[in-house]
Amino acid sequence: MWDPKTVRKAERRYAQQLRKIARYIDTIVKSFDVNDPRSYPLIVSALNEYAGTLHHWAQNTAGRIMTDVALRDQKTWLIHAKDLSRGVRDQIRNTDIGAIYQKLMDDQVTLIKSLPLDAAQRVHDLATRTTIDGGRASEVAGLILATGHVTKSRANLIARTEISRAQSNFTEARAKNLGSQGYIWRTSEDPDVRSDHKELNGTFHKWDNPPIADQRAGVRAHPGCIYNCRCYAEPVVPDDYESL
Ligand SMILES: [Zn+2]
Repeated sequence: MWDPKTVRKAERRYAQQLRKIARYIDTIVKSFDVNDPRSYPLIVSALNEYAGTLHHWAQNTAGRIMTDVALRDQKTWLIHAKDLSRGVRDQIRNTDIGAIYQKLMDDQVTLIKSLPLDAAQRVHDLATRTTIDGGRASEVAGLILATGHVTKSRANLIARTEISRAQSNFTEARAKNLGSQGYIWRTSEDPDVRSDHKELNGTFHKWDNPPIADQRAGVRAHPGCIYNCRCYAEPVVPDDYESL
């Protein structure tokens, strides 16, 4: 059915792209003398400036990846609908995903720019810590030096979270377009699945009423729509499309 492996491929490609930003941030930070606190404001402005240059790159990169995810989702639907009428297949092909695509794109541009902006904020906060709290200079220098590394982890998290979310949003749109009310929650069924989601595995939920996906925080979400979640929704479509 909805094969999570194809999503993982897109996720890896997106992570590769986002890690380029982390590497560039690393280069920016390391081009300054982190042992000299006078360079901290310069690092901050260099990172902020970098964020300002990222708009087109972000749009192109996210555009390619999101188009790929949307097309793979459409392909999956069409494979499962291959024995159904031309009308159903046309309906799948013609689902209007424009608004969802645009929203995802806007979110990606914001998230991509947030990598250097958050890095700048991090350096700023650390620099303030030396002056206000009298933090140890060498310790602060070390933490500032690790900014690229911290960004790399965030880049990976963004790729994982956003590709799953995109996949989930496209699937939902195509399912609803066929009159689907909801889906079966499916996990990747490996040891990394969190206990909250293990409990949800195999249960039915309505598109308009996501279940509690994080019991501790009380957050409701569809599969793949909460941080680091690799679960996916297996759409349930009306009886006429039962073979899906
Ligand atoms: Zn999950």
